[in-house]
Amino acid sequence: MTQDDPLPPLRDVIERHDLRARKSLGQNFLLDLNLTAKIARQAGDLSACDVLEIGPGPGGLTRGLLSEGARKILAIEKDARCLPALAEIADAYPNRLDVIEGDALAIDPLAHLTPPIRVASNLPYNVGTELLIRWLTPKQWPPFWDSLTLMFQREVAQRITAETGSKAYGRLAILSQWRCDARIVLHLPPEAFCPPPKVSSAVVHLKMLPEPRFPADFKTLEHVVAAAFNQRRKMLRSSLKSVSPDIEDMLAAAGIKPTERAEQVSLEKFCALAREVAKA
Ligand code: SAM
Repeated sequence: MTQDDPLPPLRDVIERHDLRARKSLGQNFLLDLNLTAKIARQAGDLSACDVLEIGPGPGGLTRGLLSEGARKILAIEKDARCLPALAEIADAYPNRLDVIEGDALAIDPLAHLTPPIRVASNLPYNVGTELLIRWLTPKQWPPFWDSLTLMFQREVAQRITAETGSKAYGRLAILSQWRCDARIVLHLPPEAFCPPPKVSSAVVHLKMLPEPRFPADFKTLEHVVAAAFNQRRKMLRSSLKSVSPDIEDMLAAAGIKPTERAEQVSLEKFCALAREVAKA
């Protein structure tokens, strides 16, 4: 259900409310509403979903999500200067936008959302990875959200979706892909933003899996993966010595050569190793 956006162009909104971008808040705004609608579409059909948006800023993506039919949006914005512009959007789309002023790291949004819930955001770069890790590591799985559609710096997007053996493969890839399908759905050049950042960006779509892809205890998997990638150039028999004195036997039982390095080990094999470590 696509709806025409009834509001003035974003450039006018930014000028009228004097919303000069602040670097300290990671502010790089999207001004092209065709592009924000395209990003919103990557989150799928939102007509029966509540959407959590972190950092709406002047509201480019918020407007894209609403015009693409989101049932309801909860937006959390730290910069109070953006609130009047967001109030205009709330008026134009009655009962479909709630805004909370504050730090997304300090606010529990759950009381304000009704499932099914999807997250869609052009994340501030300074808190983006921390928020993603929180969403991927809740106390209980399945999490409160069905999917995450998130804009990151391209390098972070590549780390989330990296394949075994690639330079970007590491803890973030394992954490993301263990319990989600994760893929890059859109690339954006710096000029898509105002002001343009130094690097390119990409939108990642993560769809949660009701069960982890391979069985493993989360804490053990985290421990093993952290130890392996903290010394990623070393062979596993040496980088994982701190995990157990019997690590060579455990590696063998998991089908991993002790001379391999972390980036050569698939998610499936890391899970097998975590099960061996947990057994002991
Ligand atoms: N969504 C807008 C867009 O796409 O044009 C703005 C995106 S801009 C990259 C990031 C936004 O996050 C800014 O509006 C900034 O003020 C806000 N922000 C920064 N840190 C935040 C935090 N800790 N909690 C909530 N919002 C934050």
